[in-house]
Parts: sequence; C-alpha cells; structure tokens
Amino acid sequence: MRIRVAALFVALFAGWLWLDARAQTGGPIVSGAHRFQKVTDGVYYATSSGTMNVGANSPIILTDTEAFIIDSEITPAAARALVADMKAITSLPVRYVIDSHYHYDHAHGNQIFGPEVQVIGHENTRKRMLTNVLEQYTFLNSVEPIPARIESLKQRIAQEKDPQQKATLERQVASNAAYLEQVKETKVTPPNMTIDRRMTLYRGGREIQLFYFGRGHTDTDVVVYLPKERIVCSGDLMESLISYMGDAYVEDWIPTLERLKALDFDTVMPGHGVVFTGKTKITAFQAYLRDVYQQALAFKKQGLSAEDAAQKIDVTAHRTEFPNIRPVGIDAAGVRRIYQLADRPEPAQ
Ligand SMILES: [Zn+2]
Repeated sequence: MRIRVAALFVALFAGWLWLDARAQTGGPIVSGAHRFQKVTDGVYYATSSGTMNVGANSPIILTDTEAFIIDSEITPAAARALVADMKAITSLPVRYVIDSHYHYDHAHGNQIFGPEVQVIGHENTRKRMLTNVLEQYTFLNSVEPIPARIESLKQRIAQEKDPQQKATLERQVASNAAYLEQVKETKVTPPNMTIDRRMTLYRGGREIQLFYFGRGHTDTDVVVYLPKERIVCSGDLMESLISYMGDAYVEDWIPTLERLKALDFDTVMPGHGVVFTGKTKITAFQAYLRDVYQQALAFKKQGLSAEDAAQKIDVTAHRTEFPNIRPVGIDAAGVRRIYQLADRPEPAQ
C-alpha cells in the first residue's frame, strides 16, 4: 500500500515537473483536441490541435479560485473537449465564460455550462442569440457547403496516389462529417449576464475589465483587458488575420479600433490567428478597412454589383501585415454588407 502511495506521488510529481517544464520552455501544452500556449502565469491561449472542426481560439484566464474561458467554441462537443483538455493546465472549475461576440464559431458551446457558470456577453449578443441565429447566412454558410466539400474531397482521395496526402484528405473528410453531426445538438444559448459599455471583475487576485467600444466586426464585440498583465483579448474585432466582414459595421470599426488602441497593453490574444504584440498591426488593419470601404463605395457609385466589386477590390498593398490577403479580390460577404448599410444605414443606439 505504502509503495503504491509512494508510486502515485512519484507519478504526480513527474507529471507536475513535466507540465512545469513545458510551461517554462514556452512550448505549447498539447492536450486532446487543444494546444495551450502559456502567455503569462495563469493566462493561456487555447487553439485547436486540428483533430476537431476549427472554431475560434479561446483565451483562458485562471484566478486563485476559478477559470475564465473567453469564447465557448464552435459546437457543444468542441466546448466539452475544451473543458476536458483544460485539465492539463488547471484543476480549477470553470466559473465564467465570456462571449466576445455572438458568432457561431465563438458562442455555440455556451449550452454545456450549468447555472453555476456566468456566461457574460454584450446586450446585443443576448438579443441576437434570442433571435434565430441558426438561420443566419453567417452560420448557414458554415454548414450548407459541407456535403459538396465532402464529395469533392472523396473524389480527390480516389485519385490521390501519395498515402500521406490521402491520409490528410481523409482527416478533412472526417472532421467535416463530424462537424455536420455535432451542429445537430446545438441549442443556441445566450449569455445569462450582459454588459452595455463596461464591467470590472475582481476575482482571486486578478482584475478583469470588459469593454464594449462600439460597433465593429459586429455590434456585440466585447474586449477583455487585464491591466496588470497588459494583455487584451480582442475577439474578432482585431485578429492577426483579416476578419470576416459579413456582419460588420466597417465605417464604425475604424474609430472603435482607435478606442481599443487607447488601452495600455503589450499583448493581444485575438479570436483567430496567433498572439501578437504591439499596436502596429491594429493601425495596419484600420488602413485595410479604410481602403476596402473606399474602394467598395467607389465601385458602388459606378454601378457595379457587390459580387463584381469584390472581384476587383485590390488590397494587396496590405499584404506585409496580413499575408492571407488574396492576389485579387476580397470576400463578397464583406462588400455585400458595405452596400447594404450604404443603402439602409442602421443608426447607432
Ligand atoms: Zn466573428
């Protein structure tokens, strides 16, 4: 018995040393479907390890007493996996979930959390999630093209000779098929606590500030700020990549980012992409937005459809900061949105 207890302690100690070593070397801790990148003590950036359909990245903040998750991921299954995988970084219970905005890839895991968990989001997130977001283009566009995508992947698999390529394609088929299955259990669950402009939580040795700086990526974008750690979690208001613009208020987005930049921070943990430092990328994204907006309105004036304008808009000048910019054209959803708001402006409340 004593030997077994001793062995258990040795195993626990070895496990602790392993976790500690991983954290100190800066390499991510891989657990199940997630990778956890340590940003500072008790603050992690969770990304999908690629074994599940990829949703948003989730910043995790640990206090002395509980864990905060920013964004509950793309499906209930992905949220359950996140909570299970977090055992590799903490044994603390999840008590707060913050929805950075209402988009499905950030908030459709909300339903797995019980009444002991405060799910916080903007008032507009609650309003939007109470209307049927499962019928919105942004969500449907993630689901409807999948059967055709699976078919074309299967055709490629049939022709593929390289076993490694074949295995990669087969993994893609599996994760797409799994997503189609997983969305079936989604019950859109809005935040149970809402904010309008700002809120500060003092929990277990941390000060956690929440801000709504105005319309941008959506009209629901909540930013989470740790003043002591000089970290901001920006959701899709500011990604390290080019954000989706299909529900955006592009004209408002630029001054909203100016208010974000007024916070005193070094590190940005975005909704997609990678953790980055400084404000240069934010300024570059403002310039990108201005450019897209002006070109779209100019093409509209010339009578081009949104789809045709999207083909012609040239934003390659912004490629140094955003290498995922296409050689020609941008996503038509963003241009349709600019046209829509130009024809029917939505007054800010
Ligand atoms: Zn989004």
